[in-house]
Amino acid sequence: MGKNTYNPYENMLEVLDQASNLLGLKENEYITLKYPERELKVSIPVRMDDGSVKVFEGYRVQHSSSRGPCKGGIRYHQDVDIDEVKALAAWMSYKCAVVNIPFGGGKGAVKVNPKNLSKVELENLTRRYTAMILPIIGPERDIPAPDVNTNAEIMGWIMDTYSVINGYTVPGVVTGKPIEIGGSLGRKEATGRGVMFITREILHRCGIPVIGTRMAIQGMGNVGGTAAKLLHNEGCKIVAVSDVSGGLYCNEGLDINAIEAFLAQDKLIKDYDAHGVSHISNEDVLKSEVDVLIPAALENQINEEIASQIKAGIIVEAANGPTTVEADKILERNGKKVVPDILANAGGVVVSYFEWVQNIQSLMWDEEEVNRTLEKIMIRAFNEVWDSAKSKNATLRMGAYMVAINRIVKAKKIRGLYM
Ligand code: NAD
Repeated sequence: MGKNTYNPYENMLEVLDQASNLLGLKENEYITLKYPERELKVSIPVRMDDGSVKVFEGYRVQHSSSRGPCKGGIRYHQDVDIDEVKALAAWMSYKCAVVNIPFGGGKGAVKVNPKNLSKVELENLTRRYTAMILPIIGPERDIPAPDVNTNAEIMGWIMDTYSVINGYTVPGVVTGKPIEIGGSLGRKEATGRGVMFITREILHRCGIPVIGTRMAIQGMGNVGGTAAKLLHNEGCKIVAVSDVSGGLYCNEGLDINAIEAFLAQDKLIKDYDAHGVSHISNEDVLKSEVDVLIPAALENQINEEIASQIKAGIIVEAANGPTTVEADKILERNGKKVVPDILANAGGVVVSYFEWVQNIQSLMWDEEEVNRTLEKIMIRAFNEVWDSAKSKNATLRMGAYMVAINRIVKAKKIRGLYM
């Protein structure tokens, strides 16, 4: 599905309507969720290395703060537009609600290809963008985090800019920071670890043993690589993996530790070589003969054509939006169980919440406490989504949206409408 034909915000509205209907809500009760609370568009002037001044467009959208401060990443991408940011902000509201952490949803973006900027230009852009959105962010208002093309270093610059302007150090203004300035232990692996917990839970529910279960993972980056390592440690047989350069297959199970060590040297899967391992295409990874498929790369990877050829009975959406709307219908018709992204990859925002809690309390948790608390929250959320889906004979995606929307609508109702 091309970006031109697909409006993510309209897709969000459709899912919102469907889940609200299943919950028996009247439109009055959820109408506010159709509109972001606040949309800020900013123009960001940056002095470039050659002395010229370029102006970049940036956004920060706050979808809902009914359950707490807004929370959501900042994306740097040349194709980003306001509809995408609005949809991403709404999905953050649902993601935080489904795992029941006390945050609403927000998202920010700058229309830029950061690969075309020098390090100095990137820092200047980040600091000026921070200054422009400063009136609406803060530990009690809206807490950004990394997203596509942003990272811990950029979060450090945001934290520093916000702190310098305010005159004191405010670590809780962003999460995903370097550990040295208030980042949380376990944050880097949190999303992949959450994917592992959720995969384990759905296997239990489906009566499939974890040990020996065959899996394919698309994308061996932060999320896919961590999930692969942890699921391999749990005894699963990872038979296919891929990165942007191609895929690998081994019917007896791949040596995930060897592949991880290889990729850690900045190498690509297409150059990996080991006995019994064959090279396959990225598409073949998605269609491989497995019990569980974990898309952990980009959005819209499972389209109609691929969906009809997927052999896995369970799909765990580690990436955001990996399944197109049409493909989702095919998977449902074919009886596949799809664990939706707003649940499956919520581990990252859960540990971001822990980071914020540690920052505002000036406390540091050890990694064991982070991982244990993450596990408790992910398992509880999975069980609630499973029961919600079962109660209406609906998909797990609808189950997750019902849990989330119900929580946000209840909070809104209790707070009432300020006139
Ligand atoms: P990353 O950049 O670390 O890794 C992405 C991986 O996907 C890389 O291995 C890359 O080679 C691969 N890839 C890119 N295009 C591909 C293609 N066409 N086919 C196969 N592989 C391809 O990114 P990440 O942080 O691991 O994020 C992956 C997904 O998870 C994204 O959708 C992201 O939005 C989502 N997500 C990430 C987090 C987090 O905490 N990092 C949290 C929630 C959701």
